[in-house]
Amino acid sequence: MLIRQIPIRNALSNYMYLLACEETLEAIAIDPLDHALCLQVVKELGWSIKTVANTHHHHDHIGGNGPVIAATGAQLVSHIDAMQCIPNVDRGLQAGDTLKCGELSLEVMDTPGHTMSHICLYSPGAESEQPALFCGDTLFNAGIGRCDLGGAPEIMYETFVKQFYPLADEVRVFPGHDYIENNLQFTLDREPDNQSAQSLCAQFKAGLSAESYVSTISMEREINVFFRLDQMQVRSGIAASLDTDIEALDDQSTFVGLRRMRDKW
Ligand SMILES: [Zn+2]
Repeated sequence: MLIRQIPIRNALSNYMYLLACEETLEAIAIDPLDHALCLQVVKELGWSIKTVANTHHHHDHIGGNGPVIAATGAQLVSHIDAMQCIPNVDRGLQAGDTLKCGELSLEVMDTPGHTMSHICLYSPGAESEQPALFCGDTLFNAGIGRCDLGGAPEIMYETFVKQFYPLADEVRVFPGHDYIENNLQFTLDREPDNQSAQSLCAQFKAGLSAESYVSTISMEREINVFFRLDQMQVRSGIAASLDTDIEALDDQSTFVGLRRMRDKW
């Protein structure tokens, strides 16, 4: 699979993605908000967009659909329950569905939490290729999506437990926004001694470009506090913020407490 991660550099720091079959150069555009930039990049690459896929219905993900489809004749796909919010969807997707493009084949994951009708697209990879997860606004680098725009943190927790925590370490993470530097500060606020987060922050300060950085699930297990519910510093901080005993916190209440803390942070 050929992958282009395209930073939009708007106020919300959205990413859009182009994924292409290496044989046919037919491509899927994920959340192509900056339609002009998307069409320019695809032209430079010599790829042809056959499918536009929306991870969820928020405007900063669907806002470029119309012009991209007008220019390419691509079909539009989304979560089946997002079809009432997204105009002109051709195919509604459910968990376990397959999204094909040329020889490319992506697995559809149903991942509620940020909104209740959100999909992620998973590429299991091939022999010489690492798996990849295109996770929209569920999982971010060193953080997660907010849950106060039509989602729920308790549901997001279930998505993480059942679908993200079990992913293999080598899975590459391609989120819907570039929030990594701010999220790392939140991690270090919870876990000042987190050496992986400290080291990555130092690399960004030394000039590593955040918008070209691609993390893995293995790295998220180190730098993302939402993967670190069992860490004593994380747990005790949430207990203090909720004015409760640490023994009274289970994993779900720790996760929800972290999300609520991040909302106000
Ligand atoms: Zn969103």
